[in-house]
Amino acid sequence: MAAEILDGKALSKQSKVEVAEETSAFTSSSGVVPCLAAVLVGDDEGSQVYVRNKQRGCERVGMTSRLHKLPAATSEEELLGLIGELNGDPQVHGILVQLPLPPAINTERVLDAVTPLKDVDAFHPENVGRIVQGRPRFLPCTPHGIQVILHRANIECSGKRVVIVGRSEIVGKPLAIMLMQRNSPLGPSAANATVTVCHSRTADLAQVTRDADILVAAIGSPKFVQADMVRPGATVIDVGMNRTESGLAGDVDFDAVREVASHITPVPGGVGPMTIAMLLKNTLEAARLAHRAEA
Ligand code: NDP
Repeated sequence: MAAEILDGKALSKQSKVEVAEETSAFTSSSGVVPCLAAVLVGDDEGSQVYVRNKQRGCERVGMTSRLHKLPAATSEEELLGLIGELNGDPQVHGILVQLPLPPAINTERVLDAVTPLKDVDAFHPENVGRIVQGRPRFLPCTPHGIQVILHRANIECSGKRVVIVGRSEIVGKPLAIMLMQRNSPLGPSAANATVTVCHSRTADLAQVTRDADILVAAIGSPKFVQADMVRPGATVIDVGMNRTESGLAGDVDFDAVREVASHITPVPGGVGPMTIAMLLKNTLEAARLAHRAEA
């Protein structure tokens, strides 16, 4: 039987309704409208689409957003100057620096310059450290979106073998840390997994992935995960967003793997929309933190 599709688009709509309700209550009681400042450097087509979607998301849940669009030739000092201004602006609650930045700019330096209190992507070392220690301020958007997808579909992580292919700072590594913790904001069933992380040097990759109850592909290679890499009945989460000639493709061969797995996320319409919903959640949390600090 073909796998059940985990509909991230529908779930993200539901999450946005919840964030909109919470935002409305927060704004009524505090007079504060949460604001996300997006920083976009250069003309990367994909980045422009992502930023537009994030801004639209803000509008839909009752937040405001600002776009700081800078030319590709912007220097690192200029960009750091803007980040400094946004850090100090009390009207701005969340700061998002859209990646990738042009090669001449040191991405680490720029991300480190965002104050941890407005770091709604949870990339700052202080926020990453807090996640590692199990006391997060913000959860990184894509891993959090994956955790919510699993939780809302009643797919337990506790005691399960999770295999993550990909060890990036944005997806694989933070997800591994979050799923291996004793607890999560969604409760212990969304944590307590036995996690294995694979990468390009992993030997016998298919043998490792076939051991997974839950397999997460965050590789950046279209249709990389084939049916023979998946244990029958496993849950498969496809994080990949690869622009190909025939459109957007995931890291999983959806049609083939669907015949083997019990649950699967599609691309598009799976993890991607949840990433934005979680960003909005973090922006509200950042506004709450700022308001509490002022009170
Ligand atoms: P990175 O390029 O930063 O990381 C890719 C990872 O995959 C690396 O750890 C790499 O290993 C590993 N890898 C590459 N080739 C192989 C291979 N042949 N076998 C095993 N492992 C391999 O990518 P990201 O994590 O940033 O993104 C991954 C995908 O997810 C992309 O398609 C991206 O567009 C998408 N994405 C989607 C998001 C969403 O919202 N849905 C958000 C973020 C990303 P090594 O470390 O050894 O190089």
